[in-house]
Amino acid sequence: MPELPEMETYRKMLGERIVGRTISDAEVNRDKTINVPAAQFVAELKGNSVTRVERRAKHLIFRLKSGSSLLLHLMLGGWMYLGDDNDNPDRTKQVILSFGEMKLYFIGLRLGFLHLHDEQSLNVELDDLGPEPLDPAFTIGKFKELFSGRKGMIKTTLVNQKVIAGIGNCYSDEICHEAGIKPVRTFAELEPPELNSMYHAMKTVFLRAIEAGGYMDQPLFKDDMKTGGYDKQCRVYDREGEACIRCGNLIIKEIVSSRKTFYCPDCQH
Ligand SMILES: [Zn+2]
Repeated sequence: MPELPEMETYRKMLGERIVGRTISDAEVNRDKTINVPAAQFVAELKGNSVTRVERRAKHLIFRLKSGSSLLLHLMLGGWMYLGDDNDNPDRTKQVILSFGEMKLYFIGLRLGFLHLHDEQSLNVELDDLGPEPLDPAFTIGKFKELFSGRKGMIKTTLVNQKVIAGIGNCYSDEICHEAGIKPVRTFAELEPPELNSMYHAMKTVFLRAIEAGGYMDQPLFKDDMKTGGYDKQCRVYDREGEACIRCGNLIIKEIVSSRKTFYCPDCQH
């Protein structure tokens, strides 16, 4: 499932390409992907335009000129492609937004959604999310306030969107490896220097992953060389049995609260 760096990559690339463009048409092929009747959805979007693309946690928010917004969550299996009638993946598209000849295809949105909101209902949807890891206001002091004393496992705490936003299965493992801490411990057990390491690892891993374009394997458009660049840089995620780049010992996989968790049993303490 796409996490903060993947959605941040989408946000930047889409922002550069669709902001200011008029939505000439909208097509809905799966009613369950949206939250209002399809006719209403299309009527609201047609002739409207995207003024800004924002990200909050694992969501993208398409701000519209009319004042309403589209809230996107790709969940498991969802992705997007920016192309046209002659250049698009041979897959079912749940929603298509046209910007003249250019089209934005929403693919694999089965668990995911693209919902239309006004300002008030958007705020209600995003209300219970934890802080953004890369927000400059989210200081080491705030991090310690939020995490110290928490008794759940580090893995399950990091992926809890109500505690902290945007972290999922991949980056929770990558952050723990970067910090040299086992994801099966609890925050309550960590000494102050270990909490410091977790905070700095979180910032480092996310900045590195955003720089590399995240780990999604589907390009956003033809000749997109950026998306997915982080996939080969993952140090523990999905690397069971491979050598740890830090110590050479083998990465192991454990199931923690029914989530696959990868770490190095040797250099993560
Ligand atoms: Zn290691």
